[in-house]
Amino acid sequence: MTAKTKEEKRGLLIVYTGNGKGKTTAALGMCVRAVGYDWKISIIQFVKGSWKYGELKGIKKLEPNVELMTVGEGFVGIVDDTKDFKEHVKAAKEGITVAIEKIKSEKFNIVILDELNVAYKLGLVNQEDIESLLKANPPKQHLVITGRDAPDWLIEKADLVTEMKEIKHPYQQGIMAQKGVDW
Ligand code: ATP
Ligand code: MG
Repeated sequence: MTAKTKEEKRGLLIVYTGNGKGKTTAALGMCVRAVGYDWKISIIQFVKGSWKYGELKGIKKLEPNVELMTVGEGFVGIVDDTKDFKEHVKAAKEGITVAIEKIKSEKFNIVILDELNVAYKLGLVNQEDIESLLKANPPKQHLVITGRDAPDWLIEKADLVTEMKEIKHPYQQGIMAQKGVDW
């Protein structure tokens, strides 16, 4: 049987990365499709505050099929970040523990680890942490990792990698974030 005709059901490791807009949007699109099959999806958000009103309210409407939890400690290294780097690391590590529990629970069809690449890039979690998540994943569960700067070793392991490439973004023209598009 060729790869094209194979109908085996298997969990995919999916990575949405790149500097263009659409990574979290792509993951949310997967949620909408999956809810159509009455699937269960868990989203773990690694940067607190990165999710906006629209998607938070939208996810509520997809309950109980979709659940969302935040494990990070907010934005790292920006002006209003008053937290010690260690606190960010602690929160991210706790996030890994929670994510492993969710991944192992076998309650979900898809687990989305939003902005995990960013947590890695910032040094809040390491390769071993992410590899422990991948190892814990049941064979039929899809795992989605989003965020800019996905490391090469993760890209190597993934089954599906899409790089969002910025061609144009309204921000470059000084256009502010728009309701229903950005928040
Ligand atoms: P989205 O949540 O809209 O799918 P994303 O997940 O691809 O975006 P992030 O890196 O998570 O992008 O950035 C989050 C926020 O930054 C979003 O509100 C998004 O509109 C904005 N953003 C994303 N890409 C760009 C860009 N290339 N230039 C300016 N702002 C951006
Ligand atoms: Mg995002």
